Amino acid sequence: MDERLSRRRFLELSATATIPIVLGGCGEQDEPTGTAGEDPGGTDRRLAPTPACDDGDEPTVEQTEGPFFTPSSPERSSVLAPGLEGVALVVSGTVLSTACEPIAGAMLDFWQANASGEYDNVGFTLRGHQFADSKGRYRLETIVPGVYTGRTRHIHVKAQPEDGTVLTTQLYFPGEPGNDTDAIFDPRLVMDVDTAGSKRRARFDFVLEA
Ligand code: FE
Repeated sequence: MDERLSRRRFLELSATATIPIVLGGCGEQDEPTGTAGEDPGGTDRRLAPTPACDDGDEPTVEQTEGPFFTPSSPERSSVLAPGLEGVALVVSGTVLSTACEPIAGAMLDFWQANASGEYDNVGFTLRGHQFADSKGRYRLETIVPGVYTGRTRHIHVKAQPEDGTVLTTQLYFPGEPGNDTDAIFDPRLVMDVDTAGSKRRARFDFVLEA
């Protein structure tokens, strides 16, 4: 096993390591902790929940920004706020380069509709940016966005390595009826969503040119 394969395997296992917690449905700490490195075996591929990041992977697909982006969102990993109604959702994952290296400090700017499918175009409700940690990990606490006319359920995001190019895209939910009719829906941007328990947990790894 060469070094690159080892790194890829490590990333697979990083994802796998979150599974027992997710299936347990009782832990609040669902960040990918990177403890997979402690797994001496590292050969059990049956539980891999997301596709492995292969060296030379294509970058995450770009999508239109849409009409509701507001620059200069507050820096925060939780966009939850008092009085905000909806089903709690945690989106987490890792920001990777096309060589499968974590991109520490990558900026992620999220914006989305509320549970009624409406954007806050005056303030910054359900808008916020954050920076990936030293292992490229991010975690967004939010609610499941509502749908609005013409669009399936989605979350907008801009992702940017430090001093790198901005990737603008959208994240989607599996099993949505609107996925079949939304003209710009792209299955490559569907999150891995766990619906067990009262809180939805979604996972998506970004691959950026860096
Ligand atoms: Fe939108």
